[in-house]
Amino acid sequence: MNKKLAEIALVTGASRGIGAATAKQLAEQGFVVCVNFHKKKDTAEQVVADIEAQGGRAFAVQADISKEDDVLALFGSIDKRGLPLTRLVNNAGILFTQSKLVDMSADRINKVLMANVTGSLLCAREAVKRMSFSCGGKGGAMVNVSSGASRTGSPNEYIDYAASKGAIDSFTIGLSKEVASEGIRVNGVRPGLIYTDIHADGGEPDRVARLTPRIPLQRGGTPEDVAAAICFLLSDEASYITGSIIDATGGI
Ligand code: NAD
Repeated sequence: MNKKLAEIALVTGASRGIGAATAKQLAEQGFVVCVNFHKKKDTAEQVVADIEAQGGRAFAVQADISKEDDVLALFGSIDKRGLPLTRLVNNAGILFTQSKLVDMSADRINKVLMANVTGSLLCAREAVKRMSFSCGGKGGAMVNVSSGASRTGSPNEYIDYAASKGAIDSFTIGLSKEVASEGIRVNGVRPGLIYTDIHADGGEPDRVARLTPRIPLQRGGTPEDVAAAICFLLSDEASYITGSIIDATGGI
């Protein structure tokens, strides 16, 4: 455990997978971690308990980040802690069953874009309001979790999801330039094939194993592999890095 910091790091969608691993690593670095969750209160509370058992500090807050009112309430509950928010990880994301575009409904496409794009933009907006020098903040850093899908386009699986991650890449670059003079660094991480439950949501729980032969490093990634890249970009060691997107893909 590093020295304790009197600063809050918010990780969206942190009740499982990459978000949970990132929350734990940030707590190890001394941040007070806000573990945002959508529906899984029990697992979010378990993440908090795991952090506390290691001597860290964390609290769980429910919010559907695709809803503006929920995002405002999430940041409002962080404000009440009386500590500055200096780190944001826009991790929450969804995808639906693998399919071709011709079979996708407008409802599905809108849900993906609302959660992955609108939700991340809203959280970034609220974080910028709190971190910016011109708003009285002390600066900070954010990482947007994109996907290797933004480069491949995910044909025959979920091009709606891939398009949402392309938007994440674009807004990472744009926002990094917009808020650099405000003391805020904005970077992205593109995970590749990582062992999490998101693949079951896509209808293929064993997708990582099927595609492992295509990965140059010859293994699927772990949530901890991705969390390490996120935490590096959030750390002071990355103080001269902004507008960059790291591929955590095992070489794909
Ligand atoms: P996951 O499904 O375990 O985690 C996603 C989390 O986001 C879940 O906890 C979910 O509840 C939360 N979430 C979804 N919609 C939300 C909403 N509206 N409000 C609040 N929380 C919401 O999957 P994961 O693999 O850990 O995914 C984390 C991020 O990594 C996602 O952005 C995903 O697109 C990205 N990613 C994952 C992989 C992979 O192979 N696992 C690859 C590339 C990118």
